[in-house]
Amino acid sequence: MNIIKFPDAEKINNAVAEDRPLIAAIESDGTTAVVCPAEELPDHRILLESCGFFGEYADSFFRIRFNSNSADWEFDCPPHYNDIPDLSARLSGYYSDGLRTIPEFLVMFGYFSKLKIQNAPLKYGNSNGGIFMLLYNSLSHKKEEFIPNEAGRVSMYTCGPTVYHFAHIGNLRSYIMEDVLEKYLRFTGLDVKRVMNITDVGHLTSDGDTGDDKMLKGAKREHKTVMEIAKFYTDAFFADCAKLSIKTPDVVVPATTYIDEFIRVISSLMDKGYAYEAGGNIYFDTSKLDKYYVFGDFNEEDLEVGVREGVEADGNKKNKADFVLWFTKSKFDDQELKWDSPWGVGYPGWHIECSCISMKNLGEYLDLHCGGIDNAFPHHTNEIAQSEAYLGHKWCNYWFHVHHLNTTNGKMSKSKGEFLTVSLLEEKGYDPLVYRYFCLLSHYRKSLVFSWENLDNAVVTFNKLIAKIAPLTQEKSGEIDKAEYDRLMNGFTSALDNDLNTSLALTAVYDVLKSSANAATKLALIAEFDKVLGLDLIKKAEDKASQSAGNTADIPSEVLELVEQRKAARKDKNFALADELRDKIAALGYEVKETRQGTEINKL
Ligand SMILES: [Zn+2]
Repeated sequence: MNIIKFPDAEKINNAVAEDRPLIAAIESDGTTAVVCPAEELPDHRILLESCGFFGEYADSFFRIRFNSNSADWEFDCPPHYNDIPDLSARLSGYYSDGLRTIPEFLVMFGYFSKLKIQNAPLKYGNSNGGIFMLLYNSLSHKKEEFIPNEAGRVSMYTCGPTVYHFAHIGNLRSYIMEDVLEKYLRFTGLDVKRVMNITDVGHLTSDGDTGDDKMLKGAKREHKTVMEIAKFYTDAFFADCAKLSIKTPDVVVPATTYIDEFIRVISSLMDKGYAYEAGGNIYFDTSKLDKYYVFGDFNEEDLEVGVREGVEADGNKKNKADFVLWFTKSKFDDQELKWDSPWGVGYPGWHIECSCISMKNLGEYLDLHCGGIDNAFPHHTNEIAQSEAYLGHKWCNYWFHVHHLNTTNGKMSKSKGEFLTVSLLEEKGYDPLVYRYFCLLSHYRKSLVFSWENLDNAVVTFNKLIAKIAPLTQEKSGEIDKAEYDRLMNGFTSALDNDLNTSLALTAVYDVLKSSANAATKLALIAEFDKVLGLDLIKKAEDKASQSAGNTADIPSEVLELVEQRKAARKDKNFALADELRDKIAALGYEVKETRQGTEINKL
């Protein structure tokens, strides 16, 4: 029996997704292997015994982990494996291409090339014929099956940008991962309606309603009006999104266009006793709720986060966690945007806008709310408080949070270190889609470390991927092999069905390339995958292929003829003749070499 056993496939996949090491044990004759998360089985003997292996059968083990920063596998081999020539080069060379599943890793290991993988890809389903997807829900801290309120339809809300400056690429990571989620939901056949706000009023530098007004700060910095600033940076945001293949949501609402709606909902909260007036402002009374800290992993002390020293606590608040719904007594004398309200001339707080814009466009029951993890508290916590107080029932079922993009110095921010924008990436010569690819290499629930070096690694693997697809675009003939198509498609959907595992979804692209399917089947699959991945794979591969063809056109026919003769000689294993022909080609000023992508001809 040639089998790899997985004691627990989900545990293995989670460990890979979270960069935790695994241990693989291999039977001495190389026919059977087991894989376990290392932390569960720190002792090799326990590992072997727990999997039904005993010393006399299993004499080899090694520790492996995928390092998402370097996009490479790291592994420790038992000492006697050091005798295997070029083992390290073979593994790291191959895996720098982005292949990363454990089965592939083991099969690639030459000694186990005959292994058969005995475990079906992860696949979850429900009996209702609904969508088969597990999504981590920040409310329950668990992966849950995603079931929309209405069969076949999804209402999805995204917190939009505060348009007082360019978005940095850390903010954009969230929008990229949300875009993948939206596209995948559509890919599975769901009808998605997605709504996003644009914050052009009310957002202070601390999310807890203290500090400066962000829009006012931007206007002062650039000697413009608040509305000019809002228009400029809204356009800049969508221009960045377009470059990153991020689809514009179906409905986009600037907060300043919904003032009447905010006043209506705040009035209702006042009537219901959930809000109070103090010092001229209107506050939400968090003590009226059974449970305010709904995400469970925040508390009062977190309210201090982001509040700079020297900023006075708001003495009007009855409870520390209360938040502003409407500012009438503005501390900003030069506040440009003000509206009349039942409580006097003023402007709305930040949190109320998302609740109102969502409820107005997506109704009382929201399926999915997205945002960066730093929005979970206090912003999303406040959204839930006021929406559910207003509605009198549960509002949103699933909360999807994307984790931080860090630099090597910590969390990325506009005020710290280099201000990393899409424009800066372009100035430095990076294709913005390589940044999207870089984000897809990691799971959205893990912090991702950005460095120029990491991005350069992504450039290399992305270019290699395009180079592998390129030749396929030249041989489009053949019919799609339905059985192969379904099998390979299953690998892709299984990855995304398991909490949007984008790195495994990229692996599915390599699976297609490695498969024995014909070019038509491979191209059709990659084109389908790219509807979700958004990497422009086919177009880039076509460009690459026509570039290569163009290069060949410049090579003298005499050289090309010799290259063909040499190919034939190599096929006949007449290496002496092949070498002779290579020298002749060199004499004409060209170098010919065989690469994984095929024959390469370069001018000397
Ligand atoms: Zn929001």
